[in-house]
Amino acid sequence: MENKKVRVRFAPSPTGGLHLGGVRTVLFNYLFAKQNNGSFIVRIEDTDQTRFVAGAEQYIFDCLQWCGLIPDESPVNGGPFAPYRQSERKPIYKSYALELIEKGYAYYAFDTPEQLEEKRKTIPNFQYNHQTRKQCINSLSLSPEEVLEKLAANVPYVIRIKMPEHETVTCNDMIRGTVTFDTGLTDDKVLLKADGMPTYHLAVVVDDYLMQISHAFRGEEWLPSAPIHILLWKYLFGLDKMPQWAHLPLILKPDGNGKLSKRDGERLGFPVFAMDWTDPSTGNTTTGFKERGFLPEAFVNMLAMLGWNNGSEQEIFSLTELIENFSIERIHKGGARFDYEKAKWFNHSWLQQLPVQHYADKVKPYFEKAGIHINNDNYLHQVMDLVKERCQLLPDFVTQSSFFFQHPEQIDTAAINGKWNAAKQQFFVELIRNLELATSWDAENLEKDFKEMAAAHQLKPGELMLPFRIMLVGGKFGPHVFDIAAAIGQAATIHRIKHTLQLLS
Ligand code: GLU
Repeated sequence: MENKKVRVRFAPSPTGGLHLGGVRTVLFNYLFAKQNNGSFIVRIEDTDQTRFVAGAEQYIFDCLQWCGLIPDESPVNGGPFAPYRQSERKPIYKSYALELIEKGYAYYAFDTPEQLEEKRKTIPNFQYNHQTRKQCINSLSLSPEEVLEKLAANVPYVIRIKMPEHETVTCNDMIRGTVTFDTGLTDDKVLLKADGMPTYHLAVVVDDYLMQISHAFRGEEWLPSAPIHILLWKYLFGLDKMPQWAHLPLILKPDGNGKLSKRDGERLGFPVFAMDWTDPSTGNTTTGFKERGFLPEAFVNMLAMLGWNNGSEQEIFSLTELIENFSIERIHKGGARFDYEKAKWFNHSWLQQLPVQHYADKVKPYFEKAGIHINNDNYLHQVMDLVKERCQLLPDFVTQSSFFFQHPEQIDTAAINGKWNAAKQQFFVELIRNLELATSWDAENLEKDFKEMAAAHQLKPGELMLPFRIMLVGGKFGPHVFDIAAAIGQAATIHRIKHTLQLLS
């Protein structure tokens, strides 16, 4: 590779929630930059004012912050190539569009939206291209005088690229190898709009050049735009300056049929956006991975594995390990199916792998929401350690452990009733007495005493354990029952046994 400094960019248009495919694009940019001591830049591509959505830009930065993928240069923290918001760079682009006209690679087009609409109505599959441009109103069909007249009269115009009728252009994609395009198949895209704003095609090329971008990772859906960009690079700056591209494979629906969309998430009940997104025009909120209870470590790890692996069986990678291991050569060419069960598996693995102290503060709000106030962090950590094996998502800690903090709301006495008898009743009455006299209170001794008592009553401890669990927990779940008794303490244990015995009598 050339000795150019590695500079990569994520270039989102702030139009709504951040799809997990977008975060994966960020991640691959980030990993590549960090691996090569390069810079990761975020450039906001907001030149389409009709698609402006309030709050969408801030939301993107919040998502990156949550994932720990912090840009080196961005509209938020600035940098040597500021501004990083294309709407603030408006004056830069026009001269490049004019340069293209001068060189004969672009032209003024004066057709009004109504005239174009008319064409779309009358000509089937109308495209503004080398076949139709001569029948439209532009500087290729009008005389130079007519063009000057229109410009002098301030008739609104757009500037379009003049796609060569028949030319083959190629690029060497880092994932796909050599990709070839026939320029005749692409229409004459608008480069500069009537409001003086560039379109994506012009702005992306100009800014990648001015910001000295060395490598560009973007979604596969941008591949059809590549011939336009290649030509713009050729005409304006020279192909040797063009960044190396990598078009990332799509993230597919779970059944593999097409790109995963927000609607698939709604239909199948899983998040597609990184964080909750509230559409300001409708007020509707779409759930994000964060709010559903994913740890950022797990989310990032899961995304890395959607379309990449390091060639071994290893699946759990920290961000630091990903930086060390990442390689473009190992990105798959084909789309990667999204599997929500697997996503939860990643989260479960990270919940086990990290010390609970690391994420206890993220669990607390779920307890608060359930009306459980946590006032002892050490106790919370102890409980989390006991139940984490049973938790896939952060809110699971509440369902799996609320009985550690409050008396169970309901006791499933039906699960005890069937096999209840006087001998068992007596056992528990005596157990209460023994527990009241207990001087030490730890799981090991509680279990030992319980089993000795069972033997004395000629009962099998196994038969007593389920009722005991239901008394303490309310249902047939939870960790080791003596760990529960040890954690909730003497008074609560005794109180819960008494309470259930009353219900049973
Ligand atoms: N603004 C484009 C988007 O919203 C960026 C595509 C690119 O990275 O070139 O995805």
